[in-house]
Amino acid sequence: MAKVELKKIGKVYEGNVRAVEEANITINDKEFVVFVGPSGCGKSTTLRMVAGLEDISEGELLIDGKIVNDVPPKDRDIAMVFQNYALYPHMTVYDNMAFGLKIRKIPKAEIDTRVREAARILDIEKLLDRRPKQLSGGQRQRVAVGRAIVRNPKVFLFDEPLSNLDAKLRVQMRAEIIELHDRLQATMIYVTHDQVEAMTMGDKIVVMRDGKVQQIGSPLYLYNHPINKFVAGFIGSPPMNFLTAKVIEEGGQVMLDEGGFKLKPAAEHLALLKPYVGKEVSFGIRPEDIPVSEGGSAPNGVIKAKVTVVEPLGAEIHLYASTSTQPLVAKIPPHHLYKSGDAIAFAPVMEKARYFDRETELSILPVKFDEQA
Ligand code: ADP
Repeated sequence: MAKVELKKIGKVYEGNVRAVEEANITINDKEFVVFVGPSGCGKSTTLRMVAGLEDISEGELLIDGKIVNDVPPKDRDIAMVFQNYALYPHMTVYDNMAFGLKIRKIPKAEIDTRVREAARILDIEKLLDRRPKQLSGGQRQRVAVGRAIVRNPKVFLFDEPLSNLDAKLRVQMRAEIIELHDRLQATMIYVTHDQVEAMTMGDKIVVMRDGKVQQIGSPLYLYNHPINKFVAGFIGSPPMNFLTAKVIEEGGQVMLDEGGFKLKPAAEHLALLKPYVGKEVSFGIRPEDIPVSEGGSAPNGVIKAKVTVVEPLGAEIHLYASTSTQPLVAKIPPHHLYKSGDAIAFAPVMEKARYFDRETELSILPVKFDEQA
């Protein structure tokens, strides 16, 4: 059992640098939670406070219901895997993995059993006599994970563990860490700036920005119900399109007027948009939700645009286009033969549209801050 709770956790570094503000996050037993956000948003600081490597300036950190703010790292029963692996260069793989157990005075036979078992799980049994410099990046990464596994900790922490690997290996290690989580049934917290890693690995994602938690939820909840423009734009690739449009009322019908075209919102969104009549909103639509309209028209209206760049990816095309004033990108099937300069019409799936307040950037559609709270 290991539940980790952050209650109004804050961090102010020397010189009055605020890195984290009022973070309220619950990591349930056996959960795989990913902290994601751009560089400098406070992810590592938050993780390091959980590990005990940074003092907690404000709030309470609980592990299994006990406040551990002042418990030293070695007594928190937590193991951390670092981005640079932090292996001892003069020690063999075996000794690197055994080291943490030796200093805890675990009997030799027990250490041997644990190291060999971890090596077996990670498929590095043949490397036990090598030194770190005789290993590839991926192998070093496995050793760093192995060193955490042998300790059989309550909680595993990962700080951007894959960022030094090439793209292909990263994808492979991603799958291995997910498998490891399923196998060990351990509580894991994983920090990354890569939204694809967050989406593919997390049971739950915590999106951070400027030291503040923006939203917490399952990958699909965040994808479909982003709380603000930042989360909407950060999760998903290519990112969600945002078109500024004015909400108007025409013959009793609420419509969106972009200037170059008009769209009829989905029935379930009309009441929420009504208070914005006469004002501009940010109309958010994902690239996969704007299929091309072959006939140039659609019941809810079309987005008229001009193709600017065509990126064929084999399985699909990323089509960059521009309305008279605003850029957008569409994901369309590979058979389309568009070229730069072509006139095009997209028929947005209006039920999938998101709307954001232009001033606060918050979702106009109702959304939960913490999906599971
Ligand atoms: P992330 O992991 O999301 O990239 P960090 O947690 O490393 O972000 O940093 C958050 C903020 O705290 C940044 O503005 C960073 O410059 C600042 N920061 C990090 N470590 C220190 C430190 N030791 N002293 C002062 N400021 C720091």
